[in-house]
Amino acid sequence: MDLDVVRLFAAREGERYALHSRHLNEQLVRVVKTVGFDVGFCRGEGQYLFDRQGTRYLDLMSGWGVFALGRNHPAVREVLKSVLDADLPNLIHMDAAPLAGILAEQLLALVPYLDKAYFANSGSEAVETALKFARAATGRAGIVYCSHAFHGLTYGALSVNGDETFREGFAPFLADCREIPFNDLAALEQALAGRQAAAFVVEPIQGKGVNVAADGYLKGAAELCRKNGTVLVADEVQTGLGRTGRFLAVEHWGVEPDVVVLSKALSGGQVPVGAVLTRKWIFDKVYSRMDRTMAHGSTFGKNDLAMAAALATLHVLKSERVVENAARTGDRLLGAFGRMAQQYELIKAVRGKGLMIGIEFGAPRSLKLKATWAALQAMSTELFCQIIIIPLFKQHKILSQVAGHGIHTIKVQPALTITDDDCDWIVRAFDAVIAEAHRGPAAALSLGRTLVDHAMKARASV
Ligand code: PMP
Repeated sequence: MDLDVVRLFAAREGERYALHSRHLNEQLVRVVKTVGFDVGFCRGEGQYLFDRQGTRYLDLMSGWGVFALGRNHPAVREVLKSVLDADLPNLIHMDAAPLAGILAEQLLALVPYLDKAYFANSGSEAVETALKFARAATGRAGIVYCSHAFHGLTYGALSVNGDETFREGFAPFLADCREIPFNDLAALEQALAGRQAAAFVVEPIQGKGVNVAADGYLKGAAELCRKNGTVLVADEVQTGLGRTGRFLAVEHWGVEPDVVVLSKALSGGQVPVGAVLTRKWIFDKVYSRMDRTMAHGSTFGKNDLAMAAALATLHVLKSERVVENAARTGDRLLGAFGRMAQQYELIKAVRGKGLMIGIEFGAPRSLKLKATWAALQAMSTELFCQIIIIPLFKQHKILSQVAGHGIHTIKVQPALTITDDDCDWIVRAFDAVIAEAHRGPAAALSLGRTLVDHAMKARASV
C-alpha cells in the first residue's frame, strides 16, 4: 500500500494551522494561537496528551466528554481491529444486525425500565430522534426545554438550545418550542398545563455552566410529565456512561425518564455513535406498521464498528470499574475545590457530580481584587477564566476549558480513569494558579501581555 496516513500525519502535522487557516475554520486557529494552545499535540494515551516535544499534558476536556476511557484504550482498539479483520456483513439493512441487537440488549439491561433502542451517529442526531419520537408518540407539537440547555446544533436540537450565541443568525427554528428556566418546577407545570407538550427535554447536569438539577427537580418533572401526558427526555449525551459517578446521572435522583439519549463516551473515543433508549409504547407509535419500518432511520446508524466500539466501552466500564473510579476521584476533587472556595474569594461556587465539575469565579469583595476583576470584565466577560486557563496550560500542563459563552465557570471533565496522582496534579495546579490570581492586578496585566503576544504571533504566522 502506498498510502501511509500515520506517516502523513508525522510529515505534515507541522502545517496543521496553515492547513486549517486555508481550508477549514480560520477562527479556530486564531483562538488556539491566542490562548497559546498551539503546541502541536502528536499523541494521546489515556488521560494524557503529548506535544511535539514529548511533553505530557493532563487533559481535562476529554474531547468534550468523548474520552471517558481516555484516548486509545487498548481494549477498544483490539475489539475494533478484530471487527475490521473479520469481514462481517455490515449494513445490509434488509436484515437484522446482530451487533446492534447485542448492544441494545446490554444497554437496556443497564436501564431496565426502558424497552427499546435506536442507534444514531451523534448526540445531535440522537436528540433529533428523541424529539421526533415524542411528537409521533403523543400527536402533539410542543417541546419544552431549559435556559442554558445544550442538545446539539442541528435544526431540531438548535431549536431547543438555551444559549443565544449558538442561535444567532440561524432563525427561524422549529415551531412550538418553549424555553423555561432550569430548576423551576412551577414554570414547568405552567408549560405543560395546556397539554400541548410532546416532550420536556432536559440535561440532569447542564453541560454549559455545569448546572446541577436541584434535589427533587427531576422527580417533580417526571411527575408533571406523567400527569400531563408529556414524554420526559433525559439528554445524557454528556452525563451518561459514568461521567457523574453513576451509569446515568438520573440515577442520583432515582428518576426513570421515558427516553434517555446517549452518545459521546459510548463511542469508546473511536467511532461516532448515538443511542436513544425508550419505552415500548413510544417506539411502537413510530414503527407502527410494516410500511413504516423505515419511518425514521439513518444509513450508518447500526454500523458494526460503532456497535463494537460501544460494546467494548461497556465491557471496559465494568471490568475496570470505571464508574466507581469516577465517583471516588470526583468526590476527592469536589472536596479539594470546595476547600479552595473557602480559601479564595474569587471562587464563587463549586458544583458538579463525579468527574463533571464546574468552578465558578465571581466578583471579589476586597478592593485590591475588585480592580483586577473590573479590568478583565471591561475587556470581555469570558476573559477572567483565561487568567486561570492559560497558566494552567503553560505552567502546569493542564488542558481545560470555559464551560460556555459569557460565563465565569471552568469545567473539569477528565477521563474517568484518572488516578490519585492525577488528582494531586489538578489540585496543585489550580491552587497555584488561583493563588497567583489573588495577588492582584499583576495577574491581569500578565494575562493582557500574554494575550497580546500570542495574538501578534498568530497574526504574523497565519
Ligand atoms: N446533548 C448534549 C447534552 C451535549 O453535551 C451534546 C454535545 N456537547 C449534544 C447533545 C450534541 O452532541 P453532538 O455534538 O455529538 O452532536
